[in-house]
Amino acid sequence: MEFSQLQSTTAICPSLFNAATAQDGILSRIRLPAGLITSTQCEVLTAVVNKFGNGEIQITNRANLQIRTSQALTKEALLDLQDYGLASSNESTDGLRNMMASPSAGIDAHAKINTIPLVKAWNFYLLQHPELAILSNKFSICFDGSEAIRVSDRPNDICLVATEINGEIYFDLHLGLGDRGDSPAPVGVLVPQKQVLEVLAALTEVYRQYTEQKLEQKTHSRSRPPRLRELLHDWGVEKYLALVTKKLGYALRPSPLAPLPLGERGTRSLEVYEHLGIHSQKQSGLFYIGVVVPLGRLTSQQLTGLSNLAKQYGGGALRLTPWQNLLITDIAKADLEKVKQEILNLGLYILANHPYAAIAACSGYKGCKSAHTDTQADAKQVAAYLENCIQLDHPINIHFSGCEKSCAQHHPSDIAVVGMGGINTETYRVYVGDGDSNFGREIYTDYDAKNLPALIEQLLQNYQYQRRDSTQTFREFVNQQS
Ligand code: SF4
Repeated sequence: MEFSQLQSTTAICPSLFNAATAQDGILSRIRLPAGLITSTQCEVLTAVVNKFGNGEIQITNRANLQIRTSQALTKEALLDLQDYGLASSNESTDGLRNMMASPSAGIDAHAKINTIPLVKAWNFYLLQHPELAILSNKFSICFDGSEAIRVSDRPNDICLVATEINGEIYFDLHLGLGDRGDSPAPVGVLVPQKQVLEVLAALTEVYRQYTEQKLEQKTHSRSRPPRLRELLHDWGVEKYLALVTKKLGYALRPSPLAPLPLGERGTRSLEVYEHLGIHSQKQSGLFYIGVVVPLGRLTSQQLTGLSNLAKQYGGGALRLTPWQNLLITDIAKADLEKVKQEILNLGLYILANHPYAAIAACSGYKGCKSAHTDTQADAKQVAAYLENCIQLDHPINIHFSGCEKSCAQHHPSDIAVVGMGGINTETYRVYVGDGDSNFGREIYTDYDAKNLPALIEQLLQNYQYQRRDSTQTFREFVNQQS
């Protein structure tokens, strides 16, 4: 088979075989089911990045990896990546979105089930079904084993959430019914463990048939494959599930679980970052360390350093998270201090209250034509300033977006700044907490990027000095002031 790395100026979801061109190079995305990457895979990847790229690797908010290269990857490089499981052996399905699982799947004492075998089985299913390549590249599936690090609130088309009923483990089916960035919602179906793959296969096949019809009719703008949520808006959940039932040949089991009210489904920002730092695993005597990766970006030396630590002291793999940081797992208690010190020596952090722990930024104008501002540089400036002038006691999520599309983060932030451009100066709209916009309540417009560090420090100082008590979150504090 001939391999090539196509380059597109329009690829919305770049993959290894359909890379996107950007101002700062050719952007390729490496799909890592459940965000797992072994130390050997890290070695192969860093060799590719050092040869073709700028020596930087980025963790995405789907726990993929992204690399930027100055030239297209050669056939040999792609074969190497395939040999080591970093590219799909089936080129046509490599572009489908990564499968998400909790970064603590299999090591979390709170979990109902280890979802990693299901992720692997579903990945294998995709490889065997090249006809699924016509689906939207954004088709996304998530497995939530009810770990302490929840992923069921991440935007996905289909999410299976483990639940225990009368001592048996089932999966509650959630579908992405809402707008872009919304959490999937329960649809009243309970899937027994042994039926998970066949139910997923039926859900996907009915969606594939819908996609085929739409593409044949060419009614869709630019013949773009429809998203699953478009099918759901077109047909409704009832018709979709009726067709899935027909395909399965047996009835789907109704769920006795009452759906949580909307406001209670999300994860509070305090909880989201609790995986950072040192935590015990369900395996007796073993620990994991959650590592803060500034803006999700690692140099190849840092990735090599982390993967060496995983090989020498841990389970031989890194676990990437949808919060653009990572875990090193399976560390013995006696080695914790040593590993912690080595992480700090790599210029990384482990504390959830470090300013970088909860700052997210999209690629900004160096990597995206739609960007009005250099979000990466502006976010680094804010983090560096905060590091020297404030001691946070909670992680505060600050989101830098180069335009209204909000690619870096879909969930609400504590503080959001959205690029507006400007003739000689970069400016931002500044939002806090909840409000009329998806970004929150607007408090400033046309705010000069140079003054953002001082403004954000002031907002955080006000919160720390004026909040009701230390349990009040930043969001609750700013919302009460609106
Ligand atoms: S949020 Fe806007 S500027 Fe940032 S990466 Fe997405 S499209 Fe580009």
